[in-house]
Amino acid sequence: MHYQLARGSIVLTLTLILNLCLALSQAYAHGKAEPLVPTPASLQRDMVFPNTADYLVLTADLHTHTVFSDGHVWPNVRVEEGLRDGLDILAITEHLEWQPHRADLPNPDRNRAYAIAQEAATDEPILVVPGVEITRELPTGHINAIFVEDANPLVQLDAGADDEAGMAARLDALPDWGSEREVNEYYVRTGLWAADAAVSAANGQGAFLFWNHPSWSEQAPDGKPPVSPQHQRWFSEKLLHGIEVVNGVSYSPESFQLAIDNDLALIGTSDVHDLIDWDYLPELGGHRPVTLVFATSAQMTAVRAALFAKRTAVWFQDTLLGRERELAPLVKASIVVTSAHYLPETTLVQVRLENRSSVPFQLQNLSNFGDQNNPGPVTLPALGTLTLELATGVRLAEISWPVRVVNAYTTPNTQLVITLSSPVADAE
Ligand SMILES: [Zn+2]
Ligand SMILES: [Zn+2]
Repeated sequence: MHYQLARGSIVLTLTLILNLCLALSQAYAHGKAEPLVPTPASLQRDMVFPNTADYLVLTADLHTHTVFSDGHVWPNVRVEEGLRDGLDILAITEHLEWQPHRADLPNPDRNRAYAIAQEAATDEPILVVPGVEITRELPTGHINAIFVEDANPLVQLDAGADDEAGMAARLDALPDWGSEREVNEYYVRTGLWAADAAVSAANGQGAFLFWNHPSWSEQAPDGKPPVSPQHQRWFSEKLLHGIEVVNGVSYSPESFQLAIDNDLALIGTSDVHDLIDWDYLPELGGHRPVTLVFATSAQMTAVRAALFAKRTAVWFQDTLLGRERELAPLVKASIVVTSAHYLPETTLVQVRLENRSSVPFQLQNLSNFGDQNNPGPVTLPALGTLTLELATGVRLAEISWPVRVVNAYTTPNTQLVITLSSPVADAE
């Protein structure tokens, strides 16, 4: 009896160990994003957006780093984070010239970070896009090029001549980043290749280019993007196609305006170097900034075409930023009136709204129908519902009322207005 029990518990223990090993090997072998313990529903972090009538709405993070430049994770971790976030599109965009890990990771093939991420994404519902960050001091700043065919020719070590005195002066002019001299020298030498040549080479590969963090305090101490004649020329010659309106935790209204004035795609990115979980606390309700891409399919060619057509918007904190062309259909697809009926013997219509997106919408009633419960804007929770009671004066067969979407901006100073409508079930 005693022996039987002991044997039973040994078998049980072995089974548990075997199951754990199996779970671990599956988790590591296939790069699955599933945590080893089940995640409670309240901690789900998927970023959810409904499609519009005309387009799929895809979430994209088009600016991320790994150890192959100045990030601190291996590329497969970026893919895993993306899967956990429900991200549809991920670009790995290493600095070509800024290589602080050179001593440990010489990095001779600049396509490796993409190749590793691509391998990790095999059979997973995420599209990995090849990219680079062309990195210069002002007047150029930093420019991402995505959908590049080959990153290697986009970094040139000895394209610009410089004598010893010239090199010393350039090294002295660099901010103190606490990096080794050899790293700084490499940065200066590669940075001597004319930005114009790098931008035109990337364009020659059919890449989509956007200006990164134009309001970064290190390059824009007054918070205003340092637009140079070179940038203006690239805008007008269609060599620069987008601009980061949001980078990490920073929003730039001036960049939003530049996008409108120069017909550029609005881009929002994490520019993550460490872990998404450390920077945005997704399991406590935070999320990375993303570019919403309005595409005809989730294939690489369709995503690229959507970006070149500037069919994008940005989701940052609780706010949507975008042209009315994209935001109006997106918000209309997100907010659905699921029922409307009059309370018995009244002209008070009870309206139930459902939110099919991860954005908690703040809605301000612009109609003459008094809201019986809320004096100010109401919040329709992310993926939640809200019931309103509107006084229509007479019983209507159909109710239709304009609302200002307080947290959706179509210019830096303009909030989106949409009209909600629904038949009323028991008007008579
Ligand atoms: Zn940068
Ligand atoms: Zn970056």
